Amino acid sequence: MHRGPPAPLTTFLINTPEIELWPGGLLRARSNHDARILARASRVLRRKRDGAYLAVDLPEGLQPLVPHLRREPGLDAALDALEATPSHARNGLEHVRDLPLHQLHERLELLGLDEAGYAERTGLAADPEPDWLAFAGVDRYRRPLWLRFDAARAWLHLRDAALRDDVVLEAISGYRSHAYQLGIFERKLARGLDIDQVLAVNAAPGYSEHHSGLALDIGAPGEPPAEESFENSHAFAWLQANAGGYGFHLSYPRDNPHGIVYEPWHWRFSNA
Ligand SMILES: [Zn+2]
Repeated sequence: MHRGPPAPLTTFLINTPEIELWPGGLLRARSNHDARILARASRVLRRKRDGAYLAVDLPEGLQPLVPHLRREPGLDAALDALEATPSHARNGLEHVRDLPLHQLHERLELLGLDEAGYAERTGLAADPEPDWLAFAGVDRYRRPLWLRFDAARAWLHLRDAALRDDVVLEAISGYRSHAYQLGIFERKLARGLDIDQVLAVNAAPGYSEHHSGLALDIGAPGEPPAEESFENSHAFAWLQANAGGYGFHLSYPRDNPHGIVYEPWHWRFSNA
């Protein structure tokens, strides 16, 4: 049976320090066995660092998908969150909390980065992850787009307003975790890049605005993703004129003080 994506803002990603709790219907199966199990799961426990599926929550109970599930780092926190989560939507921003930043130091050390030095050099602040995120539709690649509830709602309004002016906006990337960001670094370093080459295009794990669930990269059909040429598009002109009214602002304009390249595609929501 084919299930389409759920209606935006009705489905949630529950977030814990090491493990994400995904709604069952949104993850791609990697085998026939996976497909049968994922179709019946109310939640899937997914390791953040590499995306591995660890266990599924089935009507008859939790079923491990890896050997030694009990030894999995962060499992207790994930099981507590699973227990505390109602099966339906958790509405209301009053329930959004930040996850602790206690692993930040360790992750930077793994990369040989000095926390104070990095923060000072870039002027970037660490961005904690929220403990739950709302489904905001799918991105250009048909992947689920996760954002904090307020940012998700604002993005849907922004996209609809653009459409009324015949401008099609596409999300390219929304929320991503600290652990996922570390994985990006590890993969690039393993390919032979040095740390400064990676830092020129990726914020250090913990310092990307994408961690907050408030930032997203926006594109338009026919435009290459995350390229400076986006500034010449009709979509960008529309965003410049209208995005502020929906709470979205460009984080990295030309000559920004963080030494980050000009990113006309990267917008952050703020309700202040
Ligand atoms: Zn971005």
